[in-house]
Amino acid sequence: MKMKNAFLFLILAILSTLPARAEIRVDADFPGGNVLVDSIDQEANVVCARPDLRDTRSDYFYFNFRVTGAENRTVTFKFQTKGSSFGPVGPNVSTDGGKTWHYLGEKDFLDSGKIFPADQHEFTWTFGPEDSDVRFAFCMPYTQANWDEFIAQYRTREDVRFETLCRSRSDKHDVELFRLPFLGQEKPRFYLVFTARHHACEASASPVMEGVIQFCLSDAPEAQWLRQNAEIIFVPFMDKDGVENGDQGKNRNPHDHNRDYVQELYPSVKAFKALILKETEGLPIVFMDLHAPGSRGETYYSHGPIGMEQMNVIWNRFREKLAENQKDGVLKYDPKQDVPGKSEGHNSIRSFTGKNGDLCSSRVWMQGLPNVYFANCMEFGYCLCGHAILTPESGRELGRNVMKSLAEILEEDFAKE
Ligand SMILES: [Zn+2]
Repeated sequence: MKMKNAFLFLILAILSTLPARAEIRVDADFPGGNVLVDSIDQEANVVCARPDLRDTRSDYFYFNFRVTGAENRTVTFKFQTKGSSFGPVGPNVSTDGGKTWHYLGEKDFLDSGKIFPADQHEFTWTFGPEDSDVRFAFCMPYTQANWDEFIAQYRTREDVRFETLCRSRSDKHDVELFRLPFLGQEKPRFYLVFTARHHACEASASPVMEGVIQFCLSDAPEAQWLRQNAEIIFVPFMDKDGVENGDQGKNRNPHDHNRDYVQELYPSVKAFKALILKETEGLPIVFMDLHAPGSRGETYYSHGPIGMEQMNVIWNRFREKLAENQKDGVLKYDPKQDVPGKSEGHNSIRSFTGKNGDLCSSRVWMQGLPNVYFANCMEFGYCLCGHAILTPESGRELGRNVMKSLAEILEEDFAKE
């Protein structure tokens, strides 16, 4: 008996000298963060989680969370999403606090073209001894911090303007407006407008917008010509609150930012409409709104004009030029993926204006203006885009070529006037 007690005492003494094991913690308490945690089993190393839908009226898939206290553990994350939980290359992982990312299924995809199964709702990650902060996200997150980092290179230029469109609805954030003022004599020949993130979670649109800006501020002859002939504005985050809060943003209740062009629930939409009406009077408008498609989309495409024959001609020229300009690009363009305007169903006027006609998207509002020249909307796959991985650099390359293609058309049409 004495021996047994002594043995027990020894075991307890050894255990008391071991450091207590940290607990796995999961949170989304940072810009763009999103997760709902159902349970964490600290013994079995299993986390059950799902996207936080908040005011989204449909099932959706954006998540972006941080795991701490899991060093030296192999943890399984079980997701409970009704549709596919992850994109075609699996969840995106960052081990440096969100600076750089790679997809869990990236190696498989690059080695053999293998796609992460649409019906796989869990993944496992082994945390190294230094992995004190690991992020997991549906896609490549992009918030104001990314924008600030990108735009910093232009802060000292005298030919650009950093403006504020308005305060966000929460009054917590400025909605940025980046302007490239007309540099020519008298008045511009046209007005060029780019918007992104009407749907907050559609982060793949943002590196493309960066590329558009890079092209406009480059030494390319078409860019020089643009600056001498156009006023150009960019609104990088139409739903700024949603981007910073990590909302889905698509299908918000009662409607999202890209159905708000009649009711103007959101200050950014109201201010944007007022700005366009005030500044473009008598000037042809060229508008492009940047989006992302469904969770498993592997490509990118343009929504063709609806019921506007003249604009269809421009659209087809744009597609031809993009095919040429992007032919050596990482993200391959397939014009067959583009969606022409239709009289019913997807990409019909009715699909953007609601049953009662009391809703309206940005593009449909824009194409109803008497001075519209070309109004377009493009969708860029979240993870795979043109059947290749969308990275900050491949997205920017595509953006530069989108802008080059548009600039070539504008130069052909407006230079001779
Ligand atoms: Zn969208």
